[in-house]
Amino acid sequence: MRYITHCRLTLAFCFAVAAFLMTGALRLVNVRGNVVAVQPGLIAIRCGRLIDGKGPGPIENAVVLINGDRIAAAGKDVQVPAGAQVIDLRRFTVLPGLIDTHTHLTYHYDTEQNERPAVTAIYAGENARLTLEAGFTTVRNLGAADGIDLDLRNTINRGAYSGPRIAASGSPLFSNRPAESQAGSRIPSIREFVRKQAQAGADVIKVFVTPGAGGGDRLLYSEEEIRAIVDEAAKANLKVAAHAHATEGIKAAVRAGVVSVEHGSKLDDEAVRLMIEHHTALVPTLYLPNHYLAHRDKFKFDEARWQALEGLRGAMLGNFHKALAAGVWIVMGSDAVAGLHGENARELEWMVKGGMTPAQAIKSATSDAALLMGWQDRVGSIEAGKFADIIAVGDDPLKDITALQRVAFIMKGGNVVKNLASGR
Ligand SMILES: [Zn+2]
Repeated sequence: MRYITHCRLTLAFCFAVAAFLMTGALRLVNVRGNVVAVQPGLIAIRCGRLIDGKGPGPIENAVVLINGDRIAAAGKDVQVPAGAQVIDLRRFTVLPGLIDTHTHLTYHYDTEQNERPAVTAIYAGENARLTLEAGFTTVRNLGAADGIDLDLRNTINRGAYSGPRIAASGSPLFSNRPAESQAGSRIPSIREFVRKQAQAGADVIKVFVTPGAGGGDRLLYSEEEIRAIVDEAAKANLKVAAHAHATEGIKAAVRAGVVSVEHGSKLDDEAVRLMIEHHTALVPTLYLPNHYLAHRDKFKFDEARWQALEGLRGAMLGNFHKALAAGVWIVMGSDAVAGLHGENARELEWMVKGGMTPAQAIKSATSDAALLMGWQDRVGSIEAGKFADIIAVGDDPLKDITALQRVAFIMKGGNVVKNLASGR
């Protein structure tokens, strides 16, 4: 009798091992003759309400299942399996990890002339941590010297450092020479620059089509040159983001086929029409002038630039309203510069000030941002197969968008980064 029981147990154990080997994460055990699935590593998040980043409205009392670094299931009808670790967020609104499509993780207040890359990299690491801890689990970093954003991305991807997923541009194309002076002749070297960025591992190409705020309206690259940049980038399957404030720069970039116009602060009717026609994204960076002006003592700008920023503060809001009313595709990007890392969600507050509904603003920083990056297969919504990048807030972000500035829970790739939710 004892022998038979032993055989049965051994057989059950063999089945369990076989099942474990076949299913990977699933482990089957025999409890009083019943086969029960115990799923180690499986996490179930009970949500008060879920804004999944794809559906029209929030879902009440949903469950999100996480298996390893991915979402296994999400919705109202999802059951919590036996053995799953439960995270109770029933007092919270759960959303996809936020995405900022315009950051500068290497920018910091203490920059010194000829700063060594190792020093910049340390600041960049700290900025990456601050960004993730504010609920931004993915960023598109548009411009960093010495390939620091590429290395930071790799370090984070290896799990050696805490930070968001990064789509990195590396060095941007930036020229102060008027394009007209050598029309056409710069194209071979421009193509070579783009090829080198792609070889270095860039995820996106950044070009300054016009100078920074206060730098004038001239074109740094002609439409023909931008077209060459877009064409060369496409060979490596990369898209191009164009910094442009001035109207002619915006139009040249859109006609040349860039995926997004960054700032786009001087839109006229034709530029709006072109953006809609080409389905070019506008990343309006609305909060940025306010950030600079609020920290005037920390930035060493000349008077022309401060005046330009004063002008931009109001102009950008009007511009945004015009684009929104016309139906331009607007995607969230804060242009996180020194001091803005970790305050990225201020941009969402300003997008709502500019006329977006909170739901529209959230979409612009989740599913639309993922789409702009070409990462819609991995981030931007809470659905099966995507990375388990999940945040939760205590207040209702559909009523008060600033709720996203007080993130209580953050998970990135199945790992809990922050949890102020327990015990509430
Ligand atoms: Zn920027």
